Amino acid sequence: SEEKSLNFIEQIIEEDLKNGFAKDKLRFRFPPEPNGYLHVGHASSICLNFGLGIDYQSPVNLRFDDTNPAKEEQEFVDAIKRDVQWLGYQWAEERYASDYFQELYDWAVEFIKKDKAYIDSQSSEEMAKQKGTPTQVGTNSPYRNRSVEENLDLFERMKNGEFPEGTHVLRAKIDMASTNMLMRDPLMYRILHKHHHRTGDNWCIYPMYDWAHGESDYIEGISHSLCTLEFLPHRELYDWFLDQIYDSTKVRPKQREFARRNLSHTVVSKRKLLQLVQEKHVTSWDDPRMSTISGMRRRGYTPTSIRNFANTIGIAKRTNLIDVSLLEFCVREDLNKTAPRVMAVLNPVKLVITNYPDGQEEWLDAENNPEEEILTYRKVPFSKELYIEREDFQEEANKKFFRLTLGTEVRLKNAYIIKGENVIKDVDGNITEIHATYDVDSKSGSGTEASQRKVKGTIHWVSVPHAVQAEVRIYDRLFTHENPDGDKEVDFKEYINPNSLEVITGYVEPNLQTAQPEDKFQFQRLGYFCVDKDSSAEKLVFNKTVGLRDTWAK
Ligand code: ATP
Ligand code: MG
Ligand code: MG
Repeated sequence: SEEKSLNFIEQIIEEDLKNGFAKDKLRFRFPPEPNGYLHVGHASSICLNFGLGIDYQSPVNLRFDDTNPAKEEQEFVDAIKRDVQWLGYQWAEERYASDYFQELYDWAVEFIKKDKAYIDSQSSEEMAKQKGTPTQVGTNSPYRNRSVEENLDLFERMKNGEFPEGTHVLRAKIDMASTNMLMRDPLMYRILHKHHHRTGDNWCIYPMYDWAHGESDYIEGISHSLCTLEFLPHRELYDWFLDQIYDSTKVRPKQREFARRNLSHTVVSKRKLLQLVQEKHVTSWDDPRMSTISGMRRRGYTPTSIRNFANTIGIAKRTNLIDVSLLEFCVREDLNKTAPRVMAVLNPVKLVITNYPDGQEEWLDAENNPEEEILTYRKVPFSKELYIEREDFQEEANKKFFRLTLGTEVRLKNAYIIKGENVIKDVDGNITEIHATYDVDSKSGSGTEASQRKVKGTIHWVSVPHAVQAEVRIYDRLFTHENPDGDKEVDFKEYINPNSLEVITGYVEPNLQTAQPEDKFQFQRLGYFCVDKDSSAEKLVFNKTVGLRDTWAK
């Protein structure tokens, strides 16, 4: 069997198994905060956690880290579930940190009783001043030695809603001289008189992330809690909190960190993506230019391509910028296998075949996808008047131009060999019609000698009377800068590309009339396109997913 090389997280797990950790106790989670839509960075974390679940046949929970009611919404919960499933993964259990609010509160009461936590009644500015600096120890709060009784009383009254926001907090009593700033009596609870999307108005104190996260892992029996590198300094606190409550008959979760994935020419931060939506730089969270999973879906990216991308870049210990062209490569590779080929003309000029009978039409065989194991065909209509791409014709051209010119021959894809004869121009000299003649014996697939004649090029076309008009949305990078988020001095929005969307009208073959949102096609010689959700039988709308090859200027 083929041995794949283990990444460093898998090595940690293998080591644990070797040291006696029971394989059936392995358990993972993907823990999004429902404060926005998932993006391509999350896809890495999803593929990592759910991939481990598949490899080790272990449960993976979807846990919503919903401890900040100010920013969280049901809309985001629904979108996150949809996106994880669309990527092809199914969670063992759907959990919420808010499910544990009572348990966390009860533990916090125990902390107070054991003199491991106290109520601080200073302003956040005062507390910040006492925090010290990494090179200078902090100062103890004047409330640090409050009696257990007073702490219990205040904490209960905080919970009962007796105090306004900002008047009291619960802090862990650890060490104001720790070299790790996060260990200097971190906050466990703050007062927030806010409605929570799940617990409603039941609570007006909410646990801090550091307090809720590790204990949620513990409650769920998560063996390996994988998070991004910025949490490395939090690990000590994660462990300290667990030390206080850990029962040795249970699984003790282990936090391990991997590098955040950033993608070039975009931002991967829910907060920044939210700004793009709110300030209308894009139309919505699922705008096809967005790095969100739902934006990529609408753009025409496939789950397979995103999973392949995440698995190709793998996981790393250092943060780096991944070139978006690698993602596009994965998309192209998958669509090449799966997307039916069709003909569409996006910059049309009329071609008249002068020796083709007036009013005649014929339906020609066209191959759906040369990558298919068993080739299938469809019929496309042909007639005297066709649209071809303006770029596919030049009156005169040099030898390197393998398309139509006057006096030379090309093949019309799936149809006949034609020869350019003359052009008709308007008063400004623009070509309005190209006239050509066809060789009646040269039909593709007819096996005649004429059909096998070598010509210098093949161009695509759509029959004018049968053509279906379509709106086609062509996208460019949303940001002109490779790393719009990279410079702390410059706001990322300075780098927004003002020309990231171009809307054009094109013509497609009539088979596409019934295409449905998310259907994907290769417009031959042009690229991959996907039916947008705005599309209808009355008005087809396509998004350009990606070109046929990497043509971006680096
Ligand atoms: P954002 O700044 O976009 O809100 P976050 O880390 O706060 O990111 P969470 O909802 O907390 O977002 O993320 C859920 C999980 O996904 C976490 O484990 C987080 O570490 C991971 N994650 C988020 N962004 C990335 C990324 N760019 N690359 C890899 N993993 C990520
Ligand atoms: Mg987070
Ligand atoms: Mg966040």
